[in-house]
Amino acid sequence: EWIDFIPFYNRIIDRFDFTKSQNVIFERNLPDHSIFVEIDEDKLTQVLDNIISNALKYSPEGGKVAFQIEDQEGFIVISISDQGVGIPKENLSKIFERFYRVDKARTRKLGGTGLGLAIAKEMVEAHGGKIWADSVEGKGTTVSFSLPYDRTEEDEWE
Ligand code: ATP
Ligand code: MG
Repeated sequence: EWIDFIPFYNRIIDRFDFTKSQNVIFERNLPDHSIFVEIDEDKLTQVLDNIISNALKYSPEGGKVAFQIEDQEGFIVISISDQGVGIPKENLSKIFERFYRVDKARTRKLGGTGLGLAIAKEMVEAHGGKIWADSVEGKGTTVSFSLPYDRTEEDEWE
């Protein structure tokens, strides 16, 4: 189904904004025009829920979580950045594997099964996109994924 990604995304961010228990600031950097994508809303909701809850889980008190969307040649790139503990470079590609968790002791305390990002990867790829992560240890993590969008809208990106 074709939907406008921006209001869909804002509703998901709002839900986290209203219910989060930590003192974390949300910063939205989203286009102010429509972007039409053909997606399964339930599946994309699951993808975003996991990435955003990870960002919150690993954020420090008073940290910022930033939501950004960029245009990259027929794809939108959706990025969620936190100022949390970060992920060592050598582990970055593994976080998308089933049951993989970076620091067993730390993550056991924070809960979770290590499935969230593996499921997210499967769903993003089923939508014709890619998912990846960038991180600096001690500074924070950015998880990004791409989705093809309706290119008839591309003139509006100027
Ligand atoms: P689940 O999502 O199943 O509840 P989980 O959050 O541990 O469990 P994933 O979402 O797949 O599993 O993430 C895998 C691992 O990647 C995490 O256990 C954590 O070690 C690391 N990770 C994911 N997101 C972040 C982040 N924003 N900052 C730091 N580490 C992260
Ligand atoms: Mg998770």
